[in-house]
Amino acid sequence: MIVPVRRLAALCVLGAVLTGCGTEHTSAPEPDRPAKSPAASRPPTLAPGPAGLAPVFKSGARGGGKTVALTFDADMTADQGPRAAGGERFDNPALLATLRRLKVPSTVFMTGRWAEEYPAQARAIGTDPLFEVANHSYSHYAFTSRCYGLPTVAPGKMRADVERAFAAFKKAGITNAMPYFRFPGGCYDRAALRAVGRAGVTAVQWDVVSGDAFATDSDAVADEVLRGVKPGSVVVMHCTRSAAPATERAIRKVVPELRERGYRFVRVSELIGTAGR
Ligand SMILES: [Zn+2]
Repeated sequence: MIVPVRRLAALCVLGAVLTGCGTEHTSAPEPDRPAKSPAASRPPTLAPGPAGLAPVFKSGARGGGKTVALTFDADMTADQGPRAAGGERFDNPALLATLRRLKVPSTVFMTGRWAEEYPAQARAIGTDPLFEVANHSYSHYAFTSRCYGLPTVAPGKMRADVERAFAAFKKAGITNAMPYFRFPGGCYDRAALRAVGRAGVTAVQWDVVSGDAFATDSDAVADEVLRGVKPGSVVVMHCTRSAAPATERAIRKVVPELRERGYRFVRVSELIGTAGR
């Protein structure tokens, strides 16, 4: 069951790493209006699951109108520093420029390591009202033992890995960080949900896989998205040029086509905020 709640207390547990706590507390937005600015009001979250498990959000209400959230994982793994130093680009400035030019509200699931590597871009995304930043772990290590060959976070270090990413966001100057977390590789189990639940986050998955990872055919990526989107969909894509080189071109096809079909692009916080209404 999806129950949106606003949990200032839980957010302020993260006060050292999230902005907005202990500074200015605005009143909750009126129930029939989305938040004017994520940084100026409390982000909507889902109620925790049983036994403190982090709630999992996959898509918005199907009957809630033609809204769709494009999400971009800014992947960089903790041990990829030498590759970045060697010239590999884990960022994608052209993609961000296109999202801005086309005015597409979007959610960027950023790793803490990415924010450290690209602090100026992290700050630009993290202070732009078009975007919101969400947490994709610090290390991009897996939170389960088998997950696409990723190295694994030790079970006792999961919460710390999430909080280290928020700390990296704060250090980079990000002011629109949301208490949402995407598991690296999308892999999770009960133990992982319990661990990240203690960090006060809502886990965010997706219902549409763009297939942009390592794709070179942007039309194939765009067609996959266009085939999969339904009202309330969450689409997973990447903001990592070396691993997803076709994404920017795919976006140039996806955005006008979905608008033609009557879709409105929203950030994940809007889908979560309207879930269950
Ligand atoms: Zn990822």
